[in-house]
Amino acid sequence: ILVLLVSMFFMYGCTQQTSNPGDSGTTEGDKLIGVAMPTKSLQRWNQDGDNMKKMLETAGYKVILEYADNKVEQQVTQLENMITQGCKVIVIASIDGTALKGVLAEAAKEGIKIIAYDRLILDSPDVDYYATFDNYLVGKIQGEYIVGALDLASGKGPFNLEVFGGSPDDNNAFFFNNGAMDVLQPYIDKGQLVINSGQVKMEQVAIQGWRSEGAQARMDNLLTANYSDKKVDVVLSPNDSLAQGIVASLKAAGYGSADKPFPVLTGQDCDVTNVKMLIAGEQSMSIFKDTRTLASQVVEMVTAIMDGKEVPVNDTTTYNNNIKVVPSFLCEPVFADKDNYKELLIDSGYYTLEQLK
Ligand code: BGC
Repeated sequence: ILVLLVSMFFMYGCTQQTSNPGDSGTTEGDKLIGVAMPTKSLQRWNQDGDNMKKMLETAGYKVILEYADNKVEQQVTQLENMITQGCKVIVIASIDGTALKGVLAEAAKEGIKIIAYDRLILDSPDVDYYATFDNYLVGKIQGEYIVGALDLASGKGPFNLEVFGGSPDDNNAFFFNNGAMDVLQPYIDKGQLVINSGQVKMEQVAIQGWRSEGAQARMDNLLTANYSDKKVDVVLSPNDSLAQGIVASLKAAGYGSADKPFPVLTGQDCDVTNVKMLIAGEQSMSIFKDTRTLASQVVEMVTAIMDGKEVPVNDTTTYNNNIKVVPSFLCEPVFADKDNYKELLIDSGYYTLEQLK
């Protein structure tokens, strides 16, 4: 019960207290934590960064929080600064999972511990822990949502499906795709789902940098090449930024009317824009990864590292970064749609009703 109360405090009540790192008699460097986020351009990373900063400060740490504008070199420079300034732990949501080997070797020399946040950092021995939502499960829930929405289990079909994938430099993108395709493949094999473009491999469907514009352009091409005389019934989109581009393309092609309804469309992140799209019937679902949950988990990990205690993990087999299996803590994602978003997003205090108008 105590653990529950403490974690509820971190999740919901953490904004009132101010930090006072001097209290313990340590110097500031002893309490300095770096938080490196990939970009401000996607809502979720702003929330992740803000939540972590607030919660770490409440726990008594000083925080350097940086966003890197999706530029790898900028993130490397920010990490170098964090090392120079004496951070003891650095939490990193990487841009390119393979690009941090050198700078992490420098961090390791200084005895700095590294927590990979949301995205696994690859090809480096110097990643100590990984905290994320269960990425395979994200894809699996998206696939299961499609199965339910089209009633595939009772043999319905055929339906026209198109598949999108996330950025190929993001390890998560492959987990999302595997999770969803493991669910959908049997229905493709049975002919209940038909991919008219024939494009299904990650190298054919991936959208570099998770860019909405990239998804919009690919959807435009798919519609022109394959759907002049047919309708697309379902689109697997791994996240919300892609779903935004896909919907823009569908609208331009006349979808959203009585005789040409929007296809079933998945997403992830519950960005405000996309929750509005759920309410408007333009997108069917979005995976909800409560950034408060992940942030509070990371704060627990940081605190354990700093106190020399055992760091809480719940998975020691799944995330091999090509050098080693990184001990991980996986949080559980859920989905939001027009039927449950109020309970999930408003009642829990994640958004206000005003924000969604
Ligand atoms: C995250 C998603 C996000 C995507 C684009 C992924 O690594 O897990 O939540 O939508 O990156 O930023």
